[in-house]
Amino acid sequence: VNDTIDRLAEYFSRFPGIGPRQARRFVYYLLGRDPSELEGLVRTVRELKESVRSCARCLRFFPKDAAASTLCLICRDDGRDASALMVVSRDVDLETVERSRSFHGYYFVLGGSLPILEKNPESRIRVRELDKAIAAQSAQGLSEIILALNVNAEGENTEEYLKERLAPLSTHNIRISVLGRGLSTGTELEYADSATIKNAVKNRA
Ligand SMILES: [Zn+2]
Repeated sequence: VNDTIDRLAEYFSRFPGIGPRQARRFVYYLLGRDPSELEGLVRTVRELKESVRSCARCLRFFPKDAAASTLCLICRDDGRDASALMVVSRDVDLETVERSRSFHGYYFVLGGSLPILEKNPESRIRVRELDKAIAAQSAQGLSEIILALNVNAEGENTEEYLKERLAPLSTHNIRISVLGRGLSTGTELEYADSATIKNAVKNRA
């Protein structure tokens, strides 16, 4: 495709949840902006990968800082509750839970979820890294892993897979729990409000 409008629209249409029509609306929106604003956008996109790194422990993205730490601010905070580990699909889910101030343990970001009948789960979610994070936190008194996944088919499939995979941990006195009711079917964690999250964490089972 040579037309710049088509080309840019093609990029936007790859974004999560964005269809071809919305993608074109973004392009026309940009065409109506000042050149200086577009410069800022382009510069920020260019800086994105260089200024952000993935936490060595929970794997969430966080801004690089002067300390050049390999751990994000949450994983660096030893005031958090090391007895609990919450497993979420994506960075946005972690941010939603964190904003609700209902959880004070540590997190792990799977990086996605498992489609039904996925033959190679390890290619979709970071299960080996999860094993490592669990091992690290076990040494600090881990006693509960909370699976906080979306209430939809993929989320439930991921939950079932992880429950089975993590079941042997019960012999080490680590219990596996899931978020409680209050999150209705079809709920994507990132769109749930703080009160709902709070309830779901409190009523986990
Ligand atoms: Zn971290």
